[in-house]
Amino acid sequence: MAAKEDYYKLLGVERNASDEELKKKYRSLAMKFHPDRNADNPEAAEVKFKQIKEAYEVLSDPKKRAAYDQFGHAGVDASMGGRPGGAEGFSDIFGDVFGDIFGGARQQRGGVQRGADLRYNLEVTLEEAVAGTEQKIRIPVLVTCGECAGSGAKKGSSPVICTTCHGHGQVRMQQGFFSVQQTCPTCRGTGKQIKDPCGKCYGQGRVQETKTLSAKIPAGVDNGDRIRLHGEGEAGERGGPSGDLYIEIHVKPHEIFNRDGANLSCEVPISFITACMGDEIHVPTLNGKVSLKIPAETQTGKVFRLRGKGVKPVRGGPVGDLLCKVVIETPVNLTKEQKKLITELGESLSGGGKHHSPQEHTWVDGVKNFFDKLTG
Ligand SMILES: [Zn+2]
Ligand SMILES: [Zn+2]
Repeated sequence: MAAKEDYYKLLGVERNASDEELKKKYRSLAMKFHPDRNADNPEAAEVKFKQIKEAYEVLSDPKKRAAYDQFGHAGVDASMGGRPGGAEGFSDIFGDVFGDIFGGARQQRGGVQRGADLRYNLEVTLEEAVAGTEQKIRIPVLVTCGECAGSGAKKGSSPVICTTCHGHGQVRMQQGFFSVQQTCPTCRGTGKQIKDPCGKCYGQGRVQETKTLSAKIPAGVDNGDRIRLHGEGEAGERGGPSGDLYIEIHVKPHEIFNRDGANLSCEVPISFITACMGDEIHVPTLNGKVSLKIPAETQTGKVFRLRGKGVKPVRGGPVGDLLCKVVIETPVNLTKEQKKLITELGESLSGGGKHHSPQEHTWVDGVKNFFDKLTG
């Protein structure tokens, strides 16, 4: 067996990372390497995905993490050893990350199984995420059978009491000295048996259908946010309650803006002349152009903050800002005449020395000192 990679390294966190940091990192990595999102190389992504998952399982458990910190992989391999490698579905893996939400899917009520929660990845533009949008989505889902109203029994008949467990849903099995209570294998815990199954759903009470839903996405959502549509998940088995549908937001990259929480940022190229002399320029915002005053003698990389031109967060709070970083563009395709003028300008400026380019002179002095120290 090849040496295993360090769990902290796999997740890209420090050894003293908080639980919150671990969770955040794991979510983003799980998202990145999810085989659904790596169509070009799903095998490699799946391997990576499993490693990340294993690392998170250990580090998110305080006991296992302590053992790992002390003994490395040897401290936790014993507890991981019994797990079948590839047997888990990806929904299970996501169940771990989103356990706080998906946890409800496994609960049983009165012997009927609640339908599974579903997740739908919805891609939206930055504009849609900021302003909100309403989109029609089509999802393949198991819905309650219309023919038998979910009972699984042929129209006109009804399920009868299970003869194995007499309706209890549980049976007692003798195992050596012990008597063990188990879910009835005949009715799988429902307490009912179908003698005459429905022809449409073959007794399942559910059929596969493609549902079209209208999803309202509130203004201000961000990458990874989830919107819950109550009861729009998979139908429960034989009349059990439906699960929920979670729409997970994936914001497409924007050609101009980057988003960081409530703030937006962009780069604005300006000419060398504008940087020297100052000017009023137009910069884009999500609501159209606004003017921005560039003062004379602006240096490249300077960031101008336009207050309130960012995003209003979906969970409330103040509207963010737009951060415009100016980048000075060196003129290209110069004519002979222009080159001559710039040469003249250069000569005139170098006459002034430190006066015209303080940063350059400070830097040159620093480099000189550095070499002087080296040569001692
Ligand atoms: Zn049916
Ligand atoms: Zn039974």
